[in-house]
Amino acid sequence: MRLRTEGILLNSSPVGESDLLLIFFTDRLGKVQVIAKGALRSHKRFMGILLSLNHLELELIPTRVRETGYFLNLASLKKSRFSISQNPERLGAGYALAELIEKSLPELSPEPILYELLESGLDRIQSARNFREELFYYLLRFLEQMGYLPSLDFCSVCGAKLKFEDAHYYFSVRKGGYVCGNCQRKPDKSLREISAGFAKTLKALRRLAPSKPAQIRLLEKDYRFGLELFNDFIAWQIGASLKSLVFLKQFE
Ligand SMILES: [Zn+2]
Repeated sequence: MRLRTEGILLNSSPVGESDLLLIFFTDRLGKVQVIAKGALRSHKRFMGILLSLNHLELELIPTRVRETGYFLNLASLKKSRFSISQNPERLGAGYALAELIEKSLPELSPEPILYELLESGLDRIQSARNFREELFYYLLRFLEQMGYLPSLDFCSVCGAKLKFEDAHYYFSVRKGGYVCGNCQRKPDKSLREISAGFAKTLKALRRLAPSKPAQIRLLEKDYRFGLELFNDFIAWQIGASLKSLVFLKQFE
C-alpha cells in the first residue's frame, strides 16, 4: 500500500553505508520515521532534495519489519529552504522549531495545526527581517498548541492575577510561569528574575496576530535571556534541551 503525503524534513542520519534515516513531520501522519534506501550511494535517486527543513511531496511504503516505519519510494520538492541554510543564524532558528517538534511529539499522531505553524514559521524565518522576534513568537505558538504555554498573566502558584507595574518579575521554570510577590519567597531554585521590558514583550508577542511580530523589537540582552529561558522551560517540560537554542546564543 503506497501512501502519499507532504512533509517537512526535521532531521536525517546515515544508516549503514548507503541508507538515510529521515524524520519527517507530515500533514497526514504527524511525525514519522522513513528509510531512504540507497540515498547515500546514489544522489540521483532523490536528486539532492533530502535536506533538513525542505518541504517535500512524499510517497511512502510501510516497512514489514518495523510497524511504525516507512520506506521512501518517491520524493519531490514542494518548497526549498536552501536560502535559510545560507545564513547560519536563520538556519539555527529554523532548526529550533524543527527540533521542538522532533523531540516533543509522539510518532504517527497527526497535528494539522502544528504542521501549518511549522510551515508558516519557516516561511517567516526564511524571509522576515526580524526573524529573532519571529522565532520567539512561533515558540510561544508551538508551546500553546502543545499545551505547555507558560502562565504569563496569572501567578503559576496561587493563581492571582499579576500586576504589571513592578519593575521586575519572577519566572519559575518548574511551576511553568510567573510567580507573584507572595509566592516568590518560598525557595525555588528555578526562579529567574525577568525585566519588565522583556515581560511586556513576551506578553505582546503572545497576543499578536500572525502577520504582526515584525512590529516588535527585542533588545539584544532580552533576546539572549529569552533563548536561555525558552531552553530551560522547554527542557523542563519535554525532558530534552534544544541544541539549536544553545547554538543561537553565539550570534551577536
Ligand atoms: Zn502567587
